Amino acid sequence: PKSYPRPGESGCPVTFKSQYENFIGGKWVPPVKGQYFDNVSPVNGKVFCKSARSTAEDIELALDAAHAAKDKFGATTFEQRAKLLNQMADAIEQNLEKLALAEVWDNGKPIREALAADIPLAADHLRYFASAVRTQEGFIAEHKENTVAYHFHEPLGVVGAIIPWNFPILMAIWKLSPALAGGNCIIIKPAEQTPASIMVLMEVWANIVPPGVINVVTGYGPETGKPLACSPRIAKIAFTGETTTGQLIMQYASQNIIPVTLELGGKSPNIFFADIANENDEFFEKAVEGCVMFVLNQGEVCTCPSRALVHESIYDKFIEKVVQRLGKIKQGDPLNMETMVGAQVSTEQMDKILHYVELGKKEGAQCIVGGSGKKAIGGELEGGYYIEPTIFKGDNKMRIFQEEIFGPVLSVTTFRTEEEAIQIANDTSYGLGAGLWTRDIMKAYRVSRAIKAGRVWVNCYHEYPSHAAFGGYKKSGFGRECHKLTLEHYQQLKNIIISY
Ligand code: NAD
Repeated sequence: PKSYPRPGESGCPVTFKSQYENFIGGKWVPPVKGQYFDNVSPVNGKVFCKSARSTAEDIELALDAAHAAKDKFGATTFEQRAKLLNQMADAIEQNLEKLALAEVWDNGKPIREALAADIPLAADHLRYFASAVRTQEGFIAEHKENTVAYHFHEPLGVVGAIIPWNFPILMAIWKLSPALAGGNCIIIKPAEQTPASIMVLMEVWANIVPPGVINVVTGYGPETGKPLACSPRIAKIAFTGETTTGQLIMQYASQNIIPVTLELGGKSPNIFFADIANENDEFFEKAVEGCVMFVLNQGEVCTCPSRALVHESIYDKFIEKVVQRLGKIKQGDPLNMETMVGAQVSTEQMDKILHYVELGKKEGAQCIVGGSGKKAIGGELEGGYYIEPTIFKGDNKMRIFQEEIFGPVLSVTTFRTEEEAIQIANDTSYGLGAGLWTRDIMKAYRVSRAIKAGRVWVNCYHEYPSHAAFGGYKKSGFGRECHKLTLEHYQQLKNIIISY
């Protein structure tokens, strides 16, 4: 369809409950203290359901359920776990529209993205780890005569996962796929801004996943996330969110000496070398498109290409094209299939972005496009959180170049030499993503090696295959997600040497 019906309208693929309890031990369990909080849809700024406002007592219930399930689940064969993950992927694919719409209503992202990327990538991730775990079968090595060494990949036990709001389903899947493939039970704490979409997923999976293997407890960071991360009953904590929260998570985990994976913030550079502008051809258009990627998911992407570094000789021509292309992007109703930029997730996030737009002006950056702040959409979406995409030209020392804005705001600067481009790209406390655009293969190789970031896209941007390791350098965190090596972050590697 051109536009999807909204929740509550006839034909809408998703129906939200008015109130979500926690999902613990395969059942819906009310919060011990009986409290709930409102879930507001950023699409129209209205409350559409409530979720459990959980506390340490609810985390204990989830820990009880996960511990009751862990020995049985941990003893399943790799083949059985692979089968389970594939069934979970089937269920996601069968409920594509329902899950996409749930996420759109929860987060404000455009439906075309959720249908084409978020939800299919979630299914693929499960299938990838279903296959990856099978590759761990069957290794044994002769050490010397009459002595063999072999390894067991054992589960850690019960693991905790704390999720952000920008890709509510996919970020949970990035953690639970390797966790379950590795034979662990998991407790997930979704972000308080987007708790409902994962509950719709739990409804879809209710009859597939054995009780206690996946438990979801909603609530606020300090009230619900903290007791989970501090618990001596978890064997690992996986976190995606802000760098400052990541620092707290490390402190909590240090009390119990458990491993931590941190996927934190970013301020990704996207470098456009002079040779892209040889002719007005397809490659040049592709680079322009790559620059405009800063509006993907309303800029609420940890690898948002939020700093564009453009060679001074092509600056005018390139930016003119970027502004033209941006002008053609449709912003507004996230349920319309043509919409490419939807709503920011919350009023707090919107205010934070607007604050940075004002800061950019105060710092003396030149506003090339946008800058007016909130965008009025009108009609039924009047109360939604829409912001006009904004491009500033300035200097990499400015705060709009150094701090994560997490919105549709691009900061552009110029460079003269390859060395200078690398120096500016690395002049950041973050190191998550980076992009570069050139027709010169040797330059592509040199620069991608020189950039201190966990993911470098060359002549493309925002590709997220399940097999490509993803994670940060510097204050963007440590540990990796995606890629089969992630399985080992969720396993103990037991070595046994037998002499016979
Ligand atoms: P956030 O750190 O505020 O919240 C993330 C999660 O942590 C939420 O579930 C929140 O409830 C919880 N939390 C907050 N305080 C806590 C505490 N004291 N103890 C335990 N849990 C606590 O981040 P956010 O605003 O939800 O997400 C945006 C951030 O996430 C951005 O910085 C973005 O770059 C980052 N991000 C990173 C990646 C990545 O893979 N590197 C992916 C997506 C988002």
